[in-house]
Amino acid sequence: MLHRRLGRTNLQISCIAFGGLPSTFIPPKEAIEVITAAIDEGMNYFDLDEGPGQFYDKAYLDSHNKIGKVLKTRRNEVYLGVKTMRKKKNEVLEDIKKSHELLVKGTSREIIDIFQLAFVDYDHDIKAITSPDGAIAALEEGKKQGLIKHTLVAGHNRDILIDAIKTNAFDVVEFPFNIIEREVIDELIPIANKMEIGTIIMKPLGGGQFGEVAAAQIKWILEKPISCIIPGIKTVEEVKINAAFGKTPQKLTDAERKQLEAFSNRMAKIYCHRCGYCLPCSQGIKIFGLIDILHAGVLSYEKKKAAYLQAVQKGLLVPASKCIECGECVPKCPYELPIPELMKQLVEKFGI
Ligand code: SF4
Ligand code: SF4
Repeated sequence: MLHRRLGRTNLQISCIAFGGLPSTFIPPKEAIEVITAAIDEGMNYFDLDEGPGQFYDKAYLDSHNKIGKVLKTRRNEVYLGVKTMRKKKNEVLEDIKKSHELLVKGTSREIIDIFQLAFVDYDHDIKAITSPDGAIAALEEGKKQGLIKHTLVAGHNRDILIDAIKTNAFDVVEFPFNIIEREVIDELIPIANKMEIGTIIMKPLGGGQFGEVAAAQIKWILEKPISCIIPGIKTVEEVKINAAFGKTPQKLTDAERKQLEAFSNRMAKIYCHRCGYCLPCSQGIKIFGLIDILHAGVLSYEKKKAAYLQAVQKGLLVPASKCIECGECVPKCPYELPIPELMKQLVEKFGI
């Protein structure tokens, strides 16, 4: 597997690394097989996710029962990225301690390699993490106590991430990057590289939506000056397919480049970047979450539909049918998505 330097961390990580979200949806035995196969294929960075379990009582338990078991014998072959979505110092410190206890304690390297502040997407997130009782103070404390080694900030909004890395509190930045979400090429990636901040690419295949152009898409990203990609992986077969791209440099052909451009043009008006510029909606609709549901991805369409209906029933989500077509969100979307039209499509598909 080809390795690249992860910025100022100086870690040499596999250019194809392991995106952990899909493995939260499979049972521990299967997940352990997939993770073991990924290590055997040369992936050495694991970006963990807790899926629906995170930030409740069982946070990090899912990972404890999956990669935690593998680390008992293969810790020295793996770098670990663990995330929290919380923003307050005491909460983040709690997550650092808990993940340390559940994932690396008792292994041959008792330190979390990279601790991540995830979903840093808005101005108020930057304010929260930089305040004296904010998350960055917890990262410093975690380092001081020897619980974590490096720090990472992750999000979906390019400008906010630029502000975040300019605090100089992070060694690595993680963001979506693919043929549709390519605006990070102009500023975020050059600034990160200049500051020697590692760059980890989430959603290289649009959260599972780019199946038809997957090969071209992976080659296209690997041509760029980034550290690694973390495609979501949930089967041994997917491990092998993804790992193959990192074994020898693979050149994008002209035909593949054209295929990608055509795909990008077709998807541009329905693909949501989850940047959140369209919010708030006067009706309380979480616009980007709903647009995401329209397309099958890591989760099948049926599973997304079931989750949507359940969340609406429990009052956790305002349904698309509450859209009054006021149009206020439309000019706020930099990608000109026809949001009210997409809300209508949701109602047609899901009946609510
Ligand atoms: S058009 Fe619909 S989704 Fe957009 S702000 Fe108005 S009510 Fe919300
Ligand atoms: S609808 Fe547009 S503004 Fe809203 S999150 Fe998606 S891409 Fe961003």
